[in-house]
Formats: sequence, structure tokens, C-alpha cells
Amino acid sequence: MAETEFALDLNDDQKEVRSWLHGFAADVMRPAAAEWDEREETPWPIIQEAAKIGLYSLDFYAQQYFDPTGLGIPMTMEELFWGDAGIALSIVGTGLAAVGVLANGTEEQIGTWVPQMYGDAGDVKVAAFCSSEPDAGSDVASMRTRAVYDEAKDEWVLNGTKTWATNGGIANVHVVVASVDPELGSKGHASFIVPPGTPGLSQGQKFKKHGIRASHTAEVVLDDVRVPGHCLLGGKEKLDERLARARERAKGSGERVKNAAMATFEASRPAVGAMAVGTARAAYEVALEYGKTREQFGRPVIDNQGVAFQLADMRTSVDAARLLVWRASWMGVTGRKFESAEGSMSKLFASETAKKVTAQAIQLLGGNGYTREYPVERMHRDAAIYSIFEGTSEIQRLVIARTLSGMPIR
Ligand SMILES: Cc1cc2nc3c(=O)[nH]c(=O)nc-3n(C[C@H](O)[C@H](O)[C@H](O)COP(=O)(O)OP(=O)(O)OC[C@H]3O[C@@H](n4cnc5c(N)ncnc54)[C@H](O)[C@@H]3O)c2cc1C
Repeated sequence: MAETEFALDLNDDQKEVRSWLHGFAADVMRPAAAEWDEREETPWPIIQEAAKIGLYSLDFYAQQYFDPTGLGIPMTMEELFWGDAGIALSIVGTGLAAVGVLANGTEEQIGTWVPQMYGDAGDVKVAAFCSSEPDAGSDVASMRTRAVYDEAKDEWVLNGTKTWATNGGIANVHVVVASVDPELGSKGHASFIVPPGTPGLSQGQKFKKHGIRASHTAEVVLDDVRVPGHCLLGGKEKLDERLARARERAKGSGERVKNAAMATFEASRPAVGAMAVGTARAAYEVALEYGKTREQFGRPVIDNQGVAFQLADMRTSVDAARLLVWRASWMGVTGRKFESAEGSMSKLFASETAKKVTAQAIQLLGGNGYTREYPVERMHRDAAIYSIFEGTSEIQRLVIARTLSGMPIR
């Protein structure tokens, strides 16, 4: 890939795309945010509207994903999550499953399955990435879902229960991570496509959540789910080679071996940071406007240094978070090695910033900030997710500390 210098500004094409995304976020998502938050349902009409203008489409997502500057995805995430986090996750959740296929699938698998994840403007679909389990969240290696190969039929048989799956059960295509060799821990994992309508896959409990309530989160139950051999991402030959290497090294199994699920998480962490930047920026903007218009003691509340300094800190944190995210995204796209775990750093800092800035925004709006009449209450609830999914803040710190020190910190 050609070398691309790190840029602190967007080019003209990117600015145009950002302004188009911002228009959709401001005119379509923001006005609908409170309603879908209360309904706690997937906002299908909004996904359909996004599909009609090409915003919810494989083409658009791929264009941003392969943007050589690395800024396409963070820019997209920031604008959409600025609009509304719950609706935005309903729009971009499919991308997590798509990245799972892009990271581990063959060209043919990518070409076959990724388009089916999105459907088309007349018949919109979503996809789900299912890794987490009730007893395997941060500890991915303890996954219990099993995939057993039935050689006679060239089929894989999946059994287990996945949890917390975004779009789980309502997806057209599910990407499921399962253990093919439990003795190898995370090195014995593989990812599978479960095609639309496959018998044995069903939705379990749908969760009622604190925030991002427009995004569907549910258990996915796999009961003797049979998928054809070609649904193993990367193919059997590659898996067998990988397993053989892992068995040979089984004794000295380090902790830094890449497995199917971790490859997906690595690719998507700065993108989650960008989501957090979007929510934080949204809350900061509401707070700034409120500070300038709300009067107490005969003057705008921002006239008080204590309030103005809060806003200065909020904006400084948002910009610092964005810079870390852009750096990590650029490093990822240009193939640089994350020698100081810069991807995890960006997610950690941006997630914690979103929680802090949205809390500061509530404080700045006083009683109004605490009500659902104003959006910062929802933004604060939404912000709590970023330090949990795609690896909690503690796990990011663990990754950063291990990378910096080279020590097996626990
Ligand atoms: C809304 C939502 C959507 C999600 N979407 C998806 C999805 O689409 N697909 C999917 O596969 N998963 C998804 N997840 C799951 C998410 O990735 C997990 O919740 C997350 O990885 C944490 O796992 P856990 O909830 O089991 O927490 P646990 O791992 O049980 O952690 C509990 C606490 O212990 C801390 N902790 C754990 N281990 C350590 C350690 N070694 N050192 C220090 N602290 C530690 C954690 O940081 C956390 O604070 C989603 C979750 C939510 C809430």
C-alpha cells in the first residue's frame, strides 16, 4: 500500500462526505433520537432512509474502510454518533460483522456474504457478530460454543449460547466465533457464517439497556446449527494449518497470539473511539450553547470562569481524543505496528472522555440536564457503553501496560 502521510485535516472529498453525513445526522437522526430511545427498537425506517441515499450500504462502508488516509471510518463514526448513538449503532453494527469477514474470510466469502449483510435499499438487512458468551466476555479464551466438523456431509455443527450480540437474532447473516479445539483456548477458535434462515439459530433474551436503546442487543442460541463447510471463514486448509502450528507450540502458549475474534477487535477499536468522540462532541456543543444562553444572576452562566473553564476542558478532551483516534486509524490503514498499543490507547481515552464530558454537560445544564427534555441525559447514558464493549477500559489498560512493559501483567 502506498505510503500516506498523517494528516491533521480532511481533504476536500472527505469534507464533502462529512458534510453529507452531518446533514443526515442533524436532519434525520437527531430529531428521531428521543423517540427511538424510548421505543427501544431497531429504527428500521431510519436505516431504510440511510440505505436510500447510499449511507447504509456496502459500497459506502468499503469506501471509508479502505480510505488510504485512515480517516474515513473515524470521520463517519464521529458524525453518525454525534447524531445519535443508538440509531448510529443500528446503522453501523452490521460493519462489525462485515469486518469479521474482511479480517478472516477469503475473497469469495467476502464477495458472497458481505453484500447479504446489508441487503439493498428496497430490502434492507442487518448482520451480527457473535463472540461474547455469558461466561466469556473479557476472557474470550473460555468460550464454550463448539463447532464440530461432520466430514461425511462437509458441514460444521455449532452448539452454544452467545450473548450481548448487537443485531443478534434479527440479522440476516450471523458471524459466530466458536471453539473447534477447546484444548487450545483462544488459538482453537474459528469464525463461521451462519446463512439467513439456518435452522437451529434463534434469538434468546433481548436486553433492556441503560443507553444506546435503539440498538438491538440479544442472546443468540445455537442448537445443532449445521452450516456448509464453505461457511468456515478462511477455509478448512488454513484452519488445519493454524491448528497444527498451535498444537506444536501448545506448551509455551503466549498470550499474544492473534485469534479470529481478537483480529476483529484490533481492527475496530479506533472506530469505537471515534463513536465516543461523536457522543462527547455532541454533549459539549449542547453545553456550550446552553452556557451562552442560560442566564442566572443577570448574566449568561458561561460568564462565570468556573463554567467557562469546564467548557474549555471538555473541548480540549474531545480534540485530544480525536487526535489519538485518527493516529491509530492512520497507523492501522498504513500497516504500522502498534508498538505502544496506540489502538487501545485511542479507545481507552475516547471512551473515558465521553463519560466525563457527558457528565460535565449534565452538570452545566443543571436541572434541565437531568431531564429527558434535553439530549445530554440520553448522551450520558449512551456514553457508558464505549468503555464496556469491544474490550472494557480495564482490558485496554491491560493491553497497553503489557505492550509497554513486555511483562505478563495480570
Ligand atoms: C450493548 C452491548 C453490545 C455488545 N455487542 C456485542 C457484539 O455485537 N458482539 C459481541 O460478541 N459482544 C458484544 N458485547 C459484549 C461486550 O464486548 C462485553 O460485554 C465486554 O467484552 C465485557 O465482557 P463482560 O460483559 O462479560 O464483562 P466481564 O469480562 O465479566 O468484566 C467484568 C468487569 O471485570 C473487569 N475485568 C475482567 N477481566 C479483567 C482483568 N483481567 N483485569 C482487570 N479487569 C478485568 C472488566 O473490565 C469489567 O469491569 C456487547 C455488550 C454490550 C453491553
